[in-house]
Amino acid sequence: LVCTNCKKQYPIDRVYPRCDACSEPLEVGAENFQPNINQGNPLTQTILDRYSAFFPFKKTNNSLSLHEGFTPLVDSPTLAQDLGVARISFKNETQNPTWSFKDRGTVTGLNLALELGYTRIGTVSTGNMAVSVAAYGAKAGLDTIILVSASLPPEKINPIAIYNPTLIKVEGDYGKLYFDSLEIGKENNIYFINSDVPFRVEGSKTIAFEICEQLQFEVPDYVVVPTSSGGNFRGILKGFEEFKLAGLINKIPTMVCAQAAGCSPIYNAFINNQNSITRVDKPNTLCHAIDNPYPPSGNQVLRKLKEYNGIAVAVSDEEVITAQKKMASFGIFGQPDSAVPLAAIEKIHREKKLKKSDTIALIVTGSGLKYPSALEKHRMNILQCGINNLNEAIKSTLRKPTSLKAN
Ligand SMILES: [Zn+2]
Repeated sequence: LVCTNCKKQYPIDRVYPRCDACSEPLEVGAENFQPNINQGNPLTQTILDRYSAFFPFKKTNNSLSLHEGFTPLVDSPTLAQDLGVARISFKNETQNPTWSFKDRGTVTGLNLALELGYTRIGTVSTGNMAVSVAAYGAKAGLDTIILVSASLPPEKINPIAIYNPTLIKVEGDYGKLYFDSLEIGKENNIYFINSDVPFRVEGSKTIAFEICEQLQFEVPDYVVVPTSSGGNFRGILKGFEEFKLAGLINKIPTMVCAQAAGCSPIYNAFINNQNSITRVDKPNTLCHAIDNPYPPSGNQVLRKLKEYNGIAVAVSDEEVITAQKKMASFGIFGQPDSAVPLAAIEKIHREKKLKKSDTIALIVTGSGLKYPSALEKHRMNILQCGINNLNEAIKSTLRKPTSLKAN
């Protein structure tokens, strides 16, 4: 493991994910990768198998897998036309086993935990990650400890509880929980697979690997990531870096860190040209999956934006809701946070920064079904009629037949 900031090195079995010298996050060091992608049948293969050359595991334990990853990259020619670009696609992470990208990092974190001999795992989360760790912990038959904030509504608690983990609602400072859990984990031999720990970041790399494969190794010009802790952003970028190092691709995309304006510590630091983030006092956004007020990998995301001329964008809740509905018009139902990339790229478009030749990938991180109460923000088009009037009611809605428009 290497410190993302001061480059101090640590053994790979170190569980505490931050640097003793500078407190910044650690990551798995990039080695000289063989450009090996294990070809195989994607119906039976796992991401651990396919990309094993890019993981530092001694052994791949496929029995841990719920067949995460291998998610579709869905093109939208209509949207590309709207934005005046060559190609725009949604990387649809809602099709993972627990309906979010988190499953990728859970399986890689779990693979390491078992390699190190752990029989207890845990996480701190308000939603997607808790559901994911609970599901994988259940499958593996491990003691699984999930810490959530005491204020979490039943709508979010129950989908975690169904997997029957040890679920603890913790009162007090939720931000402090991230660090406390790591200390408590150390004392009690619990491997906490938190948001940006090195082996969760390893799992996120596979999003980039798949995008490269899906685009025949033509790297998109922009990759837009809804960003909270910064772990997924780091992982996706690391994936592109490693494929480039292996000679499989020849450029790094412009990475866009997309945040909700009601909680945008990375964006705030970026536009003010600061080197470190400042805590957001009171997050105020409906994008609860990305409202971390003090992202543990925020400074590292800033460093990477600077290194690669990346962009940070913040969008309002109104823009997010509009984008969520628009995304649904292309057949994709993401949670509000997952519509942040679409809202962000539209903003970049309005600022006239996109070129005709540009290709863009938007990361749709989690399913809209995860957060049904956000649907109350939408005006839905629903008709009602008596059964005797049904024929007339339907007739009144019919359009004249035209040729089908492909979205
Ligand atoms: Zn350091």
